[in-house]
Amino acid sequence: MENKREKIIEIKNLTREFEDGVVAVDDISFYVRKGEFVTFLGPSGCGKTTTLRMIAGFDKPSKGQILLNGQDISALPPNKRPINTVFQRYALFPHLNVYENIAFGLKLKRVKVTYEDASGKQFVKKEKLSKKVIAAKVEKALKMVDLEGFEKRSVSTLSGGQQQRVAIARAIVNEPEILLLDEPLGALDLKMRKDMQLELKEMHKKLGITFIYVTHDQEEALTMSDTIVVMKDGVIQQIGTPTDIYNEPKNSFVADFIGESNIFSGTIVGNRKVRFINTTFDCVDDFEKNEKVDVVVRPEDVVLKDEGEGQVDGKIISSIFKGVHYEMVMKVGKSEIVIQDTIERKVGEKVSLVIQPNDIHIMEKEFTENKYDGYITKRNTVCFGDGEFDCDVTQLYPGSFLDEEGYLITTEGDKIDLTDVDVNVEVGLKDIEISDDENAGGAIGNIVSMIYKGDHYQLIVRTDENEEDFVFDTEDTWNENDRVSVVIAKDKIKLSLKQEIKR
Ligand code: ADP
Ligand code: MG
Repeated sequence: MENKREKIIEIKNLTREFEDGVVAVDDISFYVRKGEFVTFLGPSGCGKTTTLRMIAGFDKPSKGQILLNGQDISALPPNKRPINTVFQRYALFPHLNVYENIAFGLKLKRVKVTYEDASGKQFVKKEKLSKKVIAAKVEKALKMVDLEGFEKRSVSTLSGGQQQRVAIARAIVNEPEILLLDEPLGALDLKMRKDMQLELKEMHKKLGITFIYVTHDQEEALTMSDTIVVMKDGVIQQIGTPTDIYNEPKNSFVADFIGESNIFSGTIVGNRKVRFINTTFDCVDDFEKNEKVDVVVRPEDVVLKDEGEGQVDGKIISSIFKGVHYEMVMKVGKSEIVIQDTIERKVGEKVSLVIQPNDIHIMEKEFTENKYDGYITKRNTVCFGDGEFDCDVTQLYPGSFLDEEGYLITTEGDKIDLTDVDVNVEVGLKDIEISDDENAGGAIGNIVSMIYKGDHYQLIVRTDENEEDFVFDTEDTWNENDRVSVVIAKDKIKLSLKQEIKR
């Protein structure tokens, strides 16, 4: 469906760098159409509030433009913009009652009224709103937030939800063209939040004005919005309808943030064929052969069958009833797949899974490094990628050293046994070599891909057991299918702890 309504807000290359060097908003561009419900969604600290504050006029951009109905509004103070804001903390006046809180802004307001003098000449006078006009406006706003009859109540006697309604009434009583809402339901309990979400949506419809909403809650964004803008680290990740964003996330961040997802590392192995969990699946996206990709599969899109009847077999290792469906985890090789289904498969049951090509979402991966899950052995070597490698375990604790028995001694003098400790392993693309001699390296595999990159080749060596890939750059020429061993220098293996070790 194409939306032809005019743009009310247009943001061009907006940046806000704070004095301490923090870039809260980093060159973002988007527009909001008249009457739209747009939500900024992202984790805490991603720049949502800063963006909203610049639209409201409470903060100034370092760079970029904000257009309102096509006009640059950077010079307009907040009270001259047809915009009102509702904050997470309601900031009501505790000593005023509900009516006075809502009427507060109206009482300060001056409007231009045109008169005619005796000679018929027109002149303009600035006047206060009359008591009657104010009362009518307050009444209308109270009705909108479902608080008729609450005029005389002291705000301190109201529940959180009612106070937030007063705050909303206070913002809409000015009849703004745009209402900004910064996590307005953040302080409410779950039940109240759910109710208020529906009410806000209803209010948006009745008022017919533009809402720009901010939340870190993906479910809230999905239920309320026409359009969602997903942000991370001050940068827009994706703009789209809730369905777009849910079904076609642009990258693994969006996929992960927007819902529960399985995210696998995969490789394109042919025309619309992707390999992950040791299996080749048909898919619908076109990617270059041998490209490294992230594969996203929603738990509800995995179909379970009896063993041997699907695309790949595995075993159920956990199952939890979630009210409507069961959430089960299936283990295939070393991978775990989360599955939602209304029919339970019991823990220990051998099953098979099917994923339709349409339900396999493939996203480009910025491949700059090999990453593995590993663990430290008794010998202080590290196992990963179906192999065992010498490594420097002292990097796990800066300043530590190994004693003669092989225990790690920290700078505080603590003695740590690293045996079986889980670690993240990273190896750069330039830090891997291969050898014809199968005993030379720590893992063995076949060359499955060789791509010429202008001045060097990028190779992938894949192991047999768990199909672990070693991706690296080399100037040497090899042949596909050569059987080789993978050599990595001790100091090129970067290790970090999966979790802090309890002592
Ligand atoms: P969000 O609303 O998405 O949680 P904010 O827009 O509040 O994020 O903040 C974005 C980033 O900017 C954060 O890293 C925050 O610490 C920083 N920040 C916000 N306001 C200021 C300020 N006045 N001075 C310096 N840094 C700030
Ligand atoms: Mg915020």
